[in-house]
Order: sequence, then structure tokens, then C-alpha cells
Amino acid sequence: MKKVFCIGELLIDFVAEKQGSDLSKATAFTKKAGGAPANVACAIAKLGGKGVFIGCVGNDPFGEFLLNTVKKEGVDITLTQRSETFTTLAFVSLAEDGERDFVFSRGADKELEYDPSLRKNFPGNILHLGAATALLGGPLEKTYGKYLFDGLTKEMFISFDPNFRSDLWKGKEQQFIKKCMPFVEKSHLCKFSLEEAQLLSGKSDLSEACAFLHEVGTKIIAITLGKEGTLISMNGNMETVPSIPVTPVDTTGAGDAFIGCLLYQIANLGSFNQVFDNFNLVLEMVRTANKAGAITTTNYGAINALPTKSQLED
Ligand code: ATP
Repeated sequence: MKKVFCIGELLIDFVAEKQGSDLSKATAFTKKAGGAPANVACAIAKLGGKGVFIGCVGNDPFGEFLLNTVKKEGVDITLTQRSETFTTLAFVSLAEDGERDFVFSRGADKELEYDPSLRKNFPGNILHLGAATALLGGPLEKTYGKYLFDGLTKEMFISFDPNFRSDLWKGKEQQFIKKCMPFVEKSHLCKFSLEEAQLLSGKSDLSEACAFLHEVGTKIIAITLGKEGTLISMNGNMETVPSIPVTPVDTTGAGDAFIGCLLYQIANLGSFNQVFDNFNLVLEMVRTANKAGAITTTNYGAINALPTKSQLED
């Protein structure tokens, strides 16, 4: 089985205990591990795959908690770095319908340094870049670019999720789009939300949006549509794979569960070419990944809500 290297942030999510209250009113918070690329590594490890996390946490008790949490899920953390900068914190509140709102206090995640000695581990494996905070600057942004342009695109399967957060990019959307384009160009698979696909392409019609994004470079596009499922576009084909009906309580981590489960299945294939040549195979894998996303919405939190292999098969 191939490894999936997930690069980016691992942070503390302080989740407001009382659902329905916004951050200005919330008084009590529960501490949870979060961060999209780390969630994806956990999603893969919980399914029995080889999820490797590469990121940076603080040399403090929160950093300790985070590393212990993802390690317990089976993620390989041997390539993770520690910094004297305090661990990154996010404060999250949940509305009655399970939708979330959050703010960041950015810290150690941005300190991830590029390590050329890691390069030897990569060929033949999968690299997942789940941008979220990575494009906001600091050594992490340079590290992202270096891994991407290190000639790896020919030797690895590259996956990209821009993880756009409107509160982080308010008034700087054009900058975000510009920063994402090299990743869309170089990635084999891009996972977008509806908002991201429309923002990055500048097109509201999804066929036009996909045509534009394929033109930029990516071969496979997955647009996650919440309870409507996932739209897949590749090789001139486009189809929406419906999700399964569930009663969601918290949508945190659904997108990470989806892409983690999809990458887990790709990691189990003999050759990456099987993905590029076979639309029906991709649809089948997306059907399973939709299930992983749906199950995640039925529990509170992110990592603990991600399904195990037996939960997925039930
Ligand atoms: P994130 O905001 O975490 O990055 P996202 O917006 O990319 O997530 P969603 O579209 O919310 O991701 O969810 C990912 C997948 O999970 C969907 O494509 C769908 O298959 C499944 N899913 C999400 N919400 C629901 C729901 N309410 N009912 C059924 N399936 C769901």
C-alpha cells in the first residue's frame, strides 16, 4: 500500500460547548485536535492506510496533546517538527444546523521548514496539500511551494484541497486565487467545495468552472456538495455521485473524511494510471468516500467522528 504524505497544519480546535451560540456569546469550549491536512492523515490511518503527517506544532502542552492524538489514530508523525512558537489555536462555534464558524490564532503551524532529505521518501507515493492556513505566509508557504516544484509531480500522485476560509481571506480573495493556481496546475486531483470551484474559476456554472480548472492543469476534479454528494469531472466526463441520507449534527471534517477516504482507495491501487484511465472506477471510489463524509457529519468533532474501516463497511 502506498503512503499518503499530508502536509500542513495540525492545531487545537476549541469548540464552543453550547451549540447555536456564536463565538461572541460562547463561554465554555472543549479542546479538540484539528487542522484539515492532519484530519486527512487521520482519515486514512483510521481506514487502515498509511497516513503520514508533515507539519509543525509548538513545544508546549498543546503540541504534545496534538501529536499524541494523531499518533493514537495510527498516523506516522516521525516527520513532524516542533517549534518554540506557540501551537496554532482555532475557536469554533456550531450553529443549530451543524454548520460552523471559526477564527484562528495562528502560531507554530506556519513554522514548518522544508527538509530536502525527505524527498527520498516520496516517489511512488501520494502527496496531499490541504492548504487552509499554508497560503497565508511564513516558512510553511515556501515549504509548500518547494515540495510541489521539487520535480515530485512526475513521481507522485498530487492531491490539492484549497480549504478556503472566507474570514481568513476577506478582501484578499484575488490573492488567494493567484496563490492556488500553481497547485491546481500541478495537482492530479483537486477537491473543491462549490464555493471554491466558483471562486477559483470565476464561473458560476459548474461545467464551465471545471473546463476552466482542467485547462489550468488538474486531471481530476471532485466538487463536494454537502448532502447532494460529489460532482466528478475528468476526461471530458462529468457526473454527480449522490451521498447517503443522514441526520447531520456537525459537518466539521466531512470534506477531510471524503478526500482521506478517496486517497486511501487510490493508495491501494497497483498504479496511479488506473485512476486516470477509468471514470467508472473513480465514481465507485467516490461513492465510498461520500459515505465516509456522511458518517462524519453524524458525530461531533472531526478526528473522532472520522469512520473506521468497519464503520464504513457497515
Ligand atoms: P469542509 O468544509 O470540511 O472542507 P466540504 O465543504 O468540502 O468540507 P462537504 O461537502 O460538507 O465538504 O462534505 C463532503 C462530503 O461528505 C460530501 O461530498 C458528501 O458526500 C458528504 N456529506 C456532507 N454533508 C452531508 C450530509 N448532510 N448528508 C450526507 N452526506 C454529506
